[in-house]
Amino acid sequence: MSYKILILPGDGIGPEVMKEVDRVINWFNKEVNLSAEIEYENVGGISYDLNKTAISEEAMSLAKESDAVLFGAVGGPKWDNVEYENRPEAGLLRLRKDLDLFANLRPALCFPALVDASALKKEIIEGLDIIIVRELTGGIYFGEPRGIEDLGSGNRRGINTQVYESWEIQRIAEVAFELARKRNNKVTSSEKRNVMESGLLWNEEVTKLHNEKYSDVELEHMLADNCGMQLVRWPKQFDVIVTDNLFGDMLSDVAAMLTGSLGMLPSASLGKASNGIFTNALYEPVHGSAPDIEGQGIANPLASILSFAMALRYSFSRIDDANLLEKAISNVLEAGLRTKDISTNDSKVISTSEMGDAVISKLSELI
Ligand code: NAD
Repeated sequence: MSYKILILPGDGIGPEVMKEVDRVINWFNKEVNLSAEIEYENVGGISYDLNKTAISEEAMSLAKESDAVLFGAVGGPKWDNVEYENRPEAGLLRLRKDLDLFANLRPALCFPALVDASALKKEIIEGLDIIIVRELTGGIYFGEPRGIEDLGSGNRRGINTQVYESWEIQRIAEVAFELARKRNNKVTSSEKRNVMESGLLWNEEVTKLHNEKYSDVELEHMLADNCGMQLVRWPKQFDVIVTDNLFGDMLSDVAAMLTGSLGMLPSASLGKASNGIFTNALYEPVHGSAPDIEGQGIANPLASILSFAMALRYSFSRIDDANLLEKAISNVLEAGLRTKDISTNDSKVISTSEMGDAVISKLSELI
C-alpha cells in the first residue's frame, strides 16, 4: 500500500516546521516501509504572491488526489491588507469546503514530561488524554439568513443563524462514537438544549444514533457551559467530546490550554471515510504562522509532527506507527530536550532542526 501526501508549508514558521515533518516521513519510508510519496504546493500568502490567490487550482486538485494533506500555517502582517476573498486563510477555508472536511479533531494529551507546563494543578492534568470532535462545516458560522441590517435612525441589527439538519448531526456523532470505540468508549455530547431548538435536535439525533448503533458506548449529554467548566475542573472525566461548530470552537481552545504550549497541539480535519479510513483529510498544527519568530530556527515542530502521527492513525490506519512516533516524542521530552517555547530551568534548549534530529534519533532507538 502506498500513500500520496501533499505538504502545504504555507507562511511564517510553516516551512520551517514542515521541513522536520518531511524528514520524519522519510524516516518512516526508509525504516518501516511506509511507502509515502510527498508532493509540495503553495498555500496562503506565498501562494497569493505567486498566483494572486490563496490556493491555486493545481494545488486543489493535488489535495483532492492525496491520501492526506499536511498543512503548515498561513498568514502574516505582509498580507494584512490583501482583499478579503484572497486573504491567506481563504486557502484553508477552500480546502475544508472542497474536501468536505466536516469533523475537526483536537486531542488534548498531556505528556508526562510537560505536566508542569500547564496552568492547572499537576493532579488535574497528569495522564490526560481526551479528544474534542467539532462539527466544522455547518451551524451558526454558515447558517442563513446572516448579515447586518440597517434599521434606520442609527440602529442596526446583526444576524446569524444556528441551523443543523439531522444528517449533519448524525455524521459527526458517528465519527465520535467510532473514535470512542477505539479509545475509552465514552462520548460526551455537548449543546444548549435548554435554550436552543437546534440543541434539542442535536440531543435527540445523537441519542437516536446511540440507541440504534452504538449502545455499547457510554453516552452522556452535557450543556456546553457546564462542559467548559468541567474541562478546567476535572478534564479526566472525558474521553471523546462531540459538539457543534460554535461550541467546539470555544471548547477546543479551552482544552488546548489544559496541556500548555501551542507548539505541542496537533489537529485533524476529516471528511468521508471508507472502512474506518478517512480518505479526505487534512492535518495541521493548531498554532499559526508565528511571524514574531519566523526565520530564527526556534519554532517547535512537534505540533506538526504530532499532526503527522494523526495522519498515520486516521488516514493510513498505521496505528503502531502512530504510537511509535508519539512514544519517540515523549522520550525526547523525557530526555529534557526542548525548544524555547516549552523549555524549563533544567532542560536543554534546542533548535527546530535539532528537535527533528532528536525525534528521529529516538525513533531509531525504539525499533
Ligand atoms: P500564532 O499561533 O502564530 O502565535 C502565537 C504565539 O505563539 C506567538 O508568540 C508565537 O511565536 C508562538 N508560537 C506559535 N507556534 C509556535 C511554535 N510552533 N513554536 C514556538 N512558538 C510558537 O498566532 P498569532 O500570532 O495570533 O497569529 C500569527 C499569524 O498566524 C496571523 O497572521 C494569523 O492570522 C495566522 N494564523 C494562522 C493559522 C493557520 O494557519 N491555521 C492559525 C492561527 C493564526
